[in-house]
Amino acid sequence: MDSDEGATGAIARRTERRRRLLGYAALGATLVLGAVLILVAAGFRSLDVTAYPLPEQRPTTWEEIFARPRPVTVEVLLTGTVDGDRLVVLDKGDPNIEELGDRHAPSTVSAYWVHHPTEGDYLIDAGLARAFAREGGNYTGLLRLMLALFGAESRSTDGADVTSQLRSRGISPRAVFLTHLHGDHTSGLVDLPALVPAVFGRGEDTFMQKAMFGDHLDGRPLYALDFDKGHALPPFKRVLDLLGDGSIWAISTPGHSPNHVSYLVNAQSGPVLITGDACAYHAQFEHRIRPTPGVDDQEAAIRSLAGLRELYDRFPQLQVIVGHEPPRRR
Ligand SMILES: [Zn+2]
Repeated sequence: MDSDEGATGAIARRTERRRRLLGYAALGATLVLGAVLILVAAGFRSLDVTAYPLPEQRPTTWEEIFARPRPVTVEVLLTGTVDGDRLVVLDKGDPNIEELGDRHAPSTVSAYWVHHPTEGDYLIDAGLARAFAREGGNYTGLLRLMLALFGAESRSTDGADVTSQLRSRGISPRAVFLTHLHGDHTSGLVDLPALVPAVFGRGEDTFMQKAMFGDHLDGRPLYALDFDKGHALPPFKRVLDLLGDGSIWAISTPGHSPNHVSYLVNAQSGPVLITGDACAYHAQFEHRIRPTPGVDDQEAAIRSLAGLRELYDRFPQLQVIVGHEPPRRR
């Protein structure tokens, strides 16, 4: 009788264990299926992108460019923060990783307003949308899932979005030049008038990128920068003179994303290098901390960061504005 009961108990326990395992498997399969559906739904979005109409490109040197500053100004517009672990975007195996400092300090999310006296006003990046101040934001399901896995959260406050900040200054931008198509840089586009074009590196809008920026680019003219039309300007293989007068330069800095772009504004008060996410933090720039292997192409990202550093080492008058920290005083 005892052994009968023991056998029945063992069978019941085995059945229970099998039921629990099946439950976990079903949950796992549902999560994977959900992620695939989210990915597919946003990733197959088709975009109508035309080539950015480039002015004539002339070969030149950085010395020549910096000898002729233009009457342009740059202002950083803080649109919100991403709270999370800064180590997520860096290579934890880097020998200088300890130089990072407070890894849990919030990362700022900025846009940059460039004013040109005759060409008008431009934005570089769009920051976080108004929706982040109240309604939880406008990220795609896939991006929200990824950020949740990293324990990161984007936040903003009323009036911090670029559209509100530009409106309070009475400014309507002629175009938005994007460093890359990640949600924290494209989100704010949705609040801008639909006629304002968005410009980004050709080939940046891959399937995976689309799955993460979702509808941020919808309904407005889209232009792609073709770096093949530019000249080499060492240490960079290709740069573009965006307005044809040497005021705003696009620098191809791939790696963080497929065709990431950094910008150089040749301002009267001194040249300003806007790295975008080719370099997220000041400590990363100073100590050449490698980006995480989780970026689109780590080798390319390391080369891009090295190029930006080399430019700064040659021209220390550059003001370097990194992707996710407020600018430092010169
Ligand atoms: Zn970013």
